Amino acid sequence: MSASRYREKRDFSRTPEPAEDGATGGSERPIFVIQQHDATRLHFDFRLEVEGVLKSWALPKGPSTDPREKRLMTPTEDHPLAYADFEGVIPEGEYGAGTVLVWDQGPYEVIAGDDEEATPDAAAALRRGKLTVRLFGEKLEGGWALVRMGDAPDADWLLIKMRDDAADARRNPVSTEPRSVLSGRTLDEIRAAADDAS
Ligand code: MN
Repeated sequence: MSASRYREKRDFSRTPEPAEDGATGGSERPIFVIQQHDATRLHFDFRLEVEGVLKSWALPKGPSTDPREKRLMTPTEDHPLAYADFEGVIPEGEYGAGTVLVWDQGPYEVIAGDDEEATPDAAAALRRGKLTVRLFGEKLEGGWALVRMGDAPDADWLLIKMRDDAADARRNPVSTEPRSVLSGRTLDEIRAAADDAS
């Protein structure tokens, strides 16, 4: 897998997004990241490190810690691993123009389902359309299921909190925990810092 579609969409002389992979890789556990993205519409992007790239989905409403809530995710292009630490402003006129904030980040591991092999493989599980992971983020923890709706490669997915100690129907981190886990900043503060720099 590669992030060639990612590169085709972007002009790296204009956007501050990473063109190539940095030195992010090499950790013992793969990582996930959720970025909040104030583009044409305010949304979240959910990304999982799989086979050297960040598999990516747009997550319009963000994650819910309530297991009864199924959150829709639309697949987007693979992103380079270095994107996990990207926070800043994509200029007007560029692909994805708007402010990006690292909303949550951390390691994850694949959880084997009852009917699955002992050592589950994230890439194979994604191809089959069902992956369950345990997230070790600052805001999100515990088990999460990613379920594709149908067999088409471009089909939408659902993100669903599994019923465990980290499930909490009363928590609403999307609205109560808006700050970046990297910098502690809000979207407004990231935007203001970019305005000052230009
Ligand atoms: Mn986005």
